[in-house]
Amino acid sequence: MDNFGFTISKGRQIDYENNNRFIAEYIHEREPSFRSCIECGCCSATCTTGNFTRFSLREIQILIKRGENEQVRENIKKCMLCGKCILVCPRGVNTRNVVTLAREAFQKELKNAV
Ligand code: SF4
Ligand code: SF4
Repeated sequence: MDNFGFTISKGRQIDYENNNRFIAEYIHEREPSFRSCIECGCCSATCTTGNFTRFSLREIQILIKRGENEQVRENIKKCMLCGKCILVCPRGVNTRNVVTLAREAFQKELKNAV
């Protein structure tokens, strides 16, 4: 059979049933404003780290809520906790605390796995 260099794209469904929701639930319990995010991206647009690296707090929050944590684990360490994102968030999300809690949850998850 001729190879035209094309393949069928992999399915991209979000598997909420089987994804790991531990990080999202950990944040939800401790920082209720996490639920108010409308994914507008204002935080990413103003982010100090995002200006210099491939880092987006908006994307990070979406992935955490989906339970797709693997891409977040290392990336979230780039945040400098400067707090600029809190100033521009139209929904009053305490983004700095969200980042801090996410880091904490990843640490706990690591300890529980040992
Ligand atoms: S600015 Fe606020 S509402 Fe918008 S994506 Fe960031 S955290 Fe969510
Ligand atoms: S606290 Fe983190 S996510 Fe928010 S603007 Fe500063 S570096 Fe970006």
